[in-house]
Order: sequence, then C-alpha cells, then structure tokens
Amino acid sequence: MADYYEILGVERNATQDEVKKAYRKKALQYHPDRNPGKPEAEKKFKEISEAYEVLGDEKKRGMYDRYGPEGLQGGMASAGADGAGGFGGRGFSSMEEALRTFMGAFSGDASFESMFGGGYGSGYGSEDGRQQQGASKRTNRNISFEEAVKGVEKELQITCYVTCETCHGKRTTSPQGVKRCTRCGGSGQIFEQRGFFSMSMTCPQCQGEGEMITSPCASCTGQGRVKTKKRVHVRVPPGIDSGMRLRLAGYGDVGSGGGPAGDLYVYITVEPNEFFERHGNDIIMDLPITFAESALGCKKEIPSFTSHAVRITIPDGTQTGKIFRVKGEGFPDVHSSGRGDLLIRTVVETPTKLSDRQKELLSEFATLENPANFPGKKGFLEKLKDFFSSTPT
Ligand SMILES: [Zn+2]
Ligand SMILES: [Zn+2]
Repeated sequence: MADYYEILGVERNATQDEVKKAYRKKALQYHPDRNPGKPEAEKKFKEISEAYEVLGDEKKRGMYDRYGPEGLQGGMASAGADGAGGFGGRGFSSMEEALRTFMGAFSGDASFESMFGGGYGSGYGSEDGRQQQGASKRTNRNISFEEAVKGVEKELQITCYVTCETCHGKRTTSPQGVKRCTRCGGSGQIFEQRGFFSMSMTCPQCQGEGEMITSPCASCTGQGRVKTKKRVHVRVPPGIDSGMRLRLAGYGDVGSGGGPAGDLYVYITVEPNEFFERHGNDIIMDLPITFAESALGCKKEIPSFTSHAVRITIPDGTQTGKIFRVKGEGFPDVHSSGRGDLLIRTVVETPTKLSDRQKELLSEFATLENPANFPGKKGFLEKLKDFFSSTPT
C-alpha cells in the first residue's frame, strides 16, 4: 500500500489544515462527477479519500505514524493471520464510503455547494457495477485464558461463497451462453443527465454485469459462485483480549465480475479462568496463605505461564490484600514486545475445624496478645463510636 502522505502529496509534518487543503484539492480533481467513465480517476479518488480518512483525524494519524497502516485495524499490530497478509489497513469497499469522507471534508463549506450544484449523497451506484467486492463475514471464537497468554492457532468452519468450479465463475459453460446487455451495451452502467452533471447508475437490466446469461451454468444456476463450508486456520496472537478482532483479508465471500473477495473478521472472546484475572496486560491471582504463614512469613513457589516457576518471599506480618508484583509474567502486549506483570494478592485464611490441642494453644496465644500485634484494630471501635456520635441523625 502506498504511503498516505505520498498519496495526498504532503510532508509528514504537515499541519491538519494543510492535510485538509491538500485532500480537498485532489478530491475535487479526481471526483467521479468530473471524470465520468474513468475508472482510474475513481480508484484514485477512493485512495485519496482513504488517506484523508486517516491523516485528517489526529488520533488515527498518530496511530498511522507509529504503527503504519496495520496500527489502524482495531488497534491490532503486525500479527499476521494465516498468511492472508495480516491485518491490513482499511480500504473503502464502496464509492459511497469514499464519498461520505469527501462530504465530511466539506461540511459547513459554502463554496462546495456552488462547486457542484448541491444535490449530493444519493443516486450513486455503490460499486463500479461489473466488479463487486464480496461480502465480509463475521464469526466469533472463544479461546481459553492460557491461549490468550500464549497465542494459539485455531481452525474455523465458515460458510461463504466461493467461485463455482464448474464454470470458473463465468456463470455459463457454453461459449454462446452469454450475450452482451442490450440496455447498457456491455458497460454495466447507464448515465442520466441531471443539471450540469451526469450520474452513472448500475444498469437495471444486467445488474451491472454488462452481459446477460442465456444458458446458465447448472451447478451455480448462473451465479458464478456457490455457497460452501470452508475451513480456515487463524493464528491468534499472544496477548489478545476479549473484544479484539482479527481480520483475514480476502477470506470472505468471493467477489463478482472479478471483484476482490470480502474479508473475514474473527471476534475473540477470552473465557474466564478459575485462578487468574486480567487487568490490562497484568494478570492478578489470589494466593491463599495460612494464619501462621502470614504472621511468621514464608516462601512460595508459584507455577506461571512462562517456562519457569515464580518464587516470592512473603514477609512476616503480611495482611490479606497485600500485592506482590512479579515483573514480566503477565500478558505479552499485542502491539509491542512489552509484557505485563503478575500480581499476587495474599488472602489470609482463618483456620477451621481446630483440634482441642490447637484451641488450647490459640487460647494461650490470645492471652499473650498485645495491641502492637494488631495495629489496624487498635482503637478501631472507639473511632467508630466517635464517628457515629459526631454524625447528626
Ligand atoms: Zn457455475
Ligand atoms: Zn446492462
């Protein structure tokens, strides 16, 4: 993909105003109304609209500067998916989208109205007619917490349109089975004069195909494509979180008339885990410790998602809710080589089902307690009483 700055012909340090001006100049030059019947101009128009969609928006521009076009896809970066070209930047699938951007750049601009005579935003055939991009597909996939940490390859079963193998997408198997459309003369487009400019519309007789099938292929009833179940392998990058999506370019429905295939979007849900919780790229876990361990201190070895076990020293007098942070044992960052931390939170367990001997020892211990043993408890009830007596009822 060409560089967005090059497409608009601006420097990388151009101001937002300069970007907008450059876009408007080029968009007017290549606007489809000024270039009827010129597909190169239309392609160029879509390109510059796409570039402006990103560079015209400071936030998207920042992402683009930092991560390139990949940085704009749902916040994902450079995590290739099944050799399908990874998560590419977005593209305009239709002329309407490109025109919406164009309209946006002129909103509240009087000179625009006079330039084109108004009456915009309707009547555009959304596609070139002959070439139509296939529909994009969406599918959901659950993965386990561990798979989200380590990354995983998953096989998906999707139902989508593929090119008919009998006619190879030609919609007929007989050379005489196709005739040029009489209404549009094969262009797939008809033109209608409206005021100063003519509007192109998809030919209603051939639906933009430019030709009529007189002897349709039996396998696909002349559609050129058939619905089928397909297996797709997708590589889920480590560090992925619920709500993120993976884009597999070209894995949606096959296009018609030689148009590109749609994309497949895989929405990821990470299943909850019995031991771990995710906070950003950090992993939090509760570690139960005994009353004696909390009072006397102890050492613990904890299995982790990386290959080695984590060792922590819990000092004497550790309370419930104390957090021990272990660097770099959390989720890998999907955008960078960084990694979150593992946060171990202690939970002191009160012993239950005590034997007579244990009760005896604890009772004796209680007689030896002094206020310094329980700093949080000292004067607590007195303070609570003060609080209520000073609170008006
Ligand atoms: Zn066929
Ligand atoms: Zn036609």
